[in-house]
Amino acid sequence: MREALLYEELSNNLVRCNLCARRCVIKDGSTGFCRVRKNISGKLYSLVYGKACAANVDPIGKKPLSHFHPGSLVMSIATVGCSFHCQFCDNWVISQDREISGRNLPPEEVVRLAEEYGCHGISYTYTEPTVFFEYAYDTAVIAKKKGLFNTFVTNGYMTPEAVKFISPYLDAATVDFKGGGDPDFYRRFCSVPTVEPIYKSLMEMKRFNIHIEITNLVIPKVGDSIDRIRNLATWIRENIGEDTPFHLLRFHPNYKMDHIPVTEPRVLEEAYEASREAGLNYVYLGNLPGHKYENTYCPRCRELLIKRFSFDIVKWNITEDMKCPRCGLDIPIKGRYHRGGLTVPYPII
Ligand code: SF4
Repeated sequence: MREALLYEELSNNLVRCNLCARRCVIKDGSTGFCRVRKNISGKLYSLVYGKACAANVDPIGKKPLSHFHPGSLVMSIATVGCSFHCQFCDNWVISQDREISGRNLPPEEVVRLAEEYGCHGISYTYTEPTVFFEYAYDTAVIAKKKGLFNTFVTNGYMTPEAVKFISPYLDAATVDFKGGGDPDFYRRFCSVPTVEPIYKSLMEMKRFNIHIEITNLVIPKVGDSIDRIRNLATWIRENIGEDTPFHLLRFHPNYKMDHIPVTEPRVLEEAYEASREAGLNYVYLGNLPGHKYENTYCPRCRELLIKRFSFDIVKWNITEDMKCPRCGLDIPIKGRYHRGGLTVPYPII
């Protein structure tokens, strides 16, 4: 247990947690919405500090991050708990766990393991890193000193204070949308009252120069509106930039939505075209191994720049100084290409 960061003590032993946009006011003896932050006698504590429920060596393409240290390896860690209750969560066993389960893995040990397994960075992922913020923060500080990068895979539902606090140590973030960002979808299927904080976090991340990639899970029938996806792509272009990688992810039946079928490739392709028409230069289809839209193409001359199969880079066709070899366009990739390495996750615990 560790005393929380970013909370306020209120009267009558109440506390307000200011990590995620819910800003839970928690009474003595209770936990917040995420179930992993508890008020004990008027002070807020993280119940999951140093308690990893997952630790794997992952290819960075799994996050997905396609324009950040391509081909690198990341030590991926998570604790139980989440600020959302998504009915389709892939990782619901840990995100919605009612027990504080996990193995003691202090920040120093996470970094030591990352170095031992040849990782280039650390990813705080699988569940929502905002709810294990103190653990992620302490690990990120040590990792940075050792020359490793840090990345969040997040639902984006953070407060501006949380983004600012982690920003000196956070190099990249994958921000996950679902259902094209439809507020009704978030209310119905994720128990999230409002989506505005996600857009605000993205703006804050941009302000602090954190590399951003955005995903959107396309769920048949309930979250596959092409107009919504086009609007989201337009917002990204106007506010984050036309070079922001945008990943459209195929849904697989899971958890409470195991009756919904997988997304048809045709729908994803339509979403891809709409996002390109909205002006985004780098759009990808995810969870569709072998599809041509897993690849990176030059937005000017359509040269094939990076050929992928799932998380694997099959062919690298960008010059040393990150330009298209055919037309010379600068290709926005942060960090160098790490040739070789793992292409499938390797579990540590
Ligand atoms: S991190 Fe947890 S306790 Fe804090 S505001 Fe979010 S849901 Fe509530």
